[in-house]
Order: sequence, then C-alpha cells, then structure tokens
Amino acid sequence: MQSFEYANPNTVQEAVALLSPRWGQADILAGGTDLISLMKEYLHTPKRVVNIKNLEELEGIRKTGAGLRIGALVTMEELARNADVRSGYQSLADAAAGIPSPQIRHMGTAGGDLCQRPRCWYYRQGFGLLAMKDGKSLVPGGENKYHAIFGGGPAYFVSASSLGPALVALGARVKLVSAKGPREVPAAKFFVAPKDDASREIALRPDEILTEIIVPAAVVKSATYEVRQKAALDWPLATASVVLTMKGNAVASAKVVLGHVAATPWEAADAEQALAGKTITPATAEAAGKAAVSGAQPLSQNAYKVKLAAVAVKRALLEAVKTSKA
Ligand SMILES: Cc1cc2nc3c(=O)[nH]c(=O)nc-3n(C[C@H](O)[C@H](O)[C@H](O)COP(=O)(O)OP(=O)(O)OC[C@H]3O[C@@H](n4cnc5c(N)ncnc54)[C@H](O)[C@@H]3O)c2cc1C
Repeated sequence: MQSFEYANPNTVQEAVALLSPRWGQADILAGGTDLISLMKEYLHTPKRVVNIKNLEELEGIRKTGAGLRIGALVTMEELARNADVRSGYQSLADAAAGIPSPQIRHMGTAGGDLCQRPRCWYYRQGFGLLAMKDGKSLVPGGENKYHAIFGGGPAYFVSASSLGPALVALGARVKLVSAKGPREVPAAKFFVAPKDDASREIALRPDEILTEIIVPAAVVKSATYEVRQKAALDWPLATASVVLTMKGNAVASAKVVLGHVAATPWEAADAEQALAGKTITPATAEAAGKAAVSGAQPLSQNAYKVKLAAVAVKRALLEAVKTSKA
C-alpha cells in the first residue's frame, strides 16, 4: 500500500474541504471493506484518505414527509433490520440482508455500497474499467462468465451494488455534497456505463460526498430476489428488484430492475409493460421474467445468467405480491 495522509474531519463541511477536484488525490473512507483492498492492490493510491466515520450527520434512518432518509453511514445490517425499512421497503431490506457475512453487513455502509468499485477481475488486476488491451476489450474473447449480459459494451463489468437495483426500482434519490453545495441525483442516473477508462461508473464527482439516500413514501409491494452461487463471501450472479403499485388485485404499474447483469442496474421495461393490468400468478410472473431478458446479449460464457435473471424476476414478483403494503 502506498503511504498517505490520514484526515479525521468532524463535519461534512470540513470533510469536503479535504477532497480534491481530481480523482486519485483523496479517497473517502467509510467502512473500508472495499477501499482498503483497492489500496492494497494499488488500484487506488490516494495521497490523502478522508475518514467520514465521525460525521454524525451521515448516520441514522428516519421517516420524513418525503419518505425515508437513510444516512450514508447506515450499515447493511441496520438497513436489513430497521422496522421502517422492513415495513415499507421490503425490497431494500431484502437487498441489504442478502449481502453475505455478518462482518461485511456490520462494517459496509449504504454510501460505500453504492460507491464500491466493480469486482470485474480484469479491473481488479489493473486492466482498467473497460479491460482494454491494444485498443480492444479483453472481455468478449476472454473469461467472461461473471460479466454483463446487457448493454453490449464497451463496459462489460457488472455493477457490484446490491442496493442499487432496489433503490432504482423504488425511485430513490441520492444527495451529493461538495464545498459548492448539495445536489440530488436520481438513483437511476447515479450509475453510469463508462465509455472510456478515464470515466467513473457512478455520477459522484471527486470533490463530493454521498451524504444520504432519499426513498419516496412507501405505497407499494416490493421484493428483491437474488441468485447466488454460494451464500458466503461472494456477490450475486443475478438479482431482480420489483416494486408493484396495485389496483385491487391487478398491477397498476410495475418497476422491474435487474442487478449484476449490466454495468448499471438494468430496468426491464418489457417486463414492466407485460405486467400492466395483470394479476400476479406463477404464469404472469414467468412471462414477465421472460420479457425481462428478451433483449439480453450474453457473452461466450454467461448465457446461464439469462435464465437466472428470468427466474429472479419471477420469484421476486411472487414474493412482492405477498408483502403487506398496497
Ligand atoms: C467478500 C465480500 C462480499 C461482498 N458481497 C457483496 C454483495 O453481495 N453485494 C454488495 O452490494 N456488496 C457486496 N460486497 C461489498 C460491500 O457491500 C462493500 O464493500 C461495502 O458496502 C462498501 O462500504 P464501505 O462502507 O466499507 O465502503 P469503503 O470501502 O469505505 O468505500 C468504498 C468506496 O466508496 C467510496 N465511498 C464510501 N462512502 C462514500 C460516501 N459516503 N461518499 C462518497 N464516496 C464514498 C470510497 O471512497 C471507496 O471508493 C462484498 C464485499 C466483500 C469483501
């Protein structure tokens, strides 16, 4: 690990003053479950590390007139257990609870989950976000069984965040604060498929801190279903987060967002259309799953993910319809 200056601010104002307008100069440290590995692997070599764990403003979950406000330092464990999250935002509680290992759930924060870097093994071995060599991506012709089945490149990594798809489906926004002031970005626009290696996969700027997540008022049924190779120290192979607004027994509107299948959470508009006006049954849920993957473009080793994503949608829908909010 390269040596660095360690800063311990006590307020958001102090913290943003320690950041830099250029990537690579200063990194934010929350739970450290990703940043420390990135630094040990020399993928991040910041001159300054800014610890945000003393920023009380970034803690806690509370109900507001606008819905639920989740501080960036809230851990996955707190999210998974919180009564307000569980009663109104089951899909978010599911996504947080699915993150394996109590250690990661207790140390990893909501802000860090959204800002974690991709787990693509090319990226982690220093080939850059787009895994380019001699002007060509190594992914299509290489080891790609955990890569994207949507998007068609040039970014073939998958967004690693389990909270991302749930927050996109719920219509959440994230608050980003720099020394110039705050701005809010819809979760759907926070994740970005980069077109070049110099870009980032999230809309965060180098001089900003993600301070909170705002999830609109809960008037819906929702669930997240994950398919994992192992329920231990790993990321999902495919997930689906669904949010249903019902009119009687029929779906008035649906949000279906796939995870771990593209460089960003992937909104499955075909599945949403297939559900409109339908009652959720095993048959309609299965049809929506098939619709969700109709545009998939699997690579040489990951066609299996197409089936997993379809099953995740079906099972998430069958779970969501059982949740209490209507
Ligand atoms: C074995 C293992 C399995 C895992 N499985 C899953 C999984 O299934 N699903 C999943 O979603 N995640 C998974 N993770 C990732 C884990 O959830 C993240 O590492 C964690 O959420 C990151 O949070 P942190 O607080 O530790 O962030 P840190 O490691 O402190 O930071 C991560 C990155 O985010 C930046 N950052 C952190 N907080 C902020 C902020 N508030 N504002 C701006 N930038 C910020 C940091 O600068 C850094 O670049 C797994 C991790 C491990 C090690």
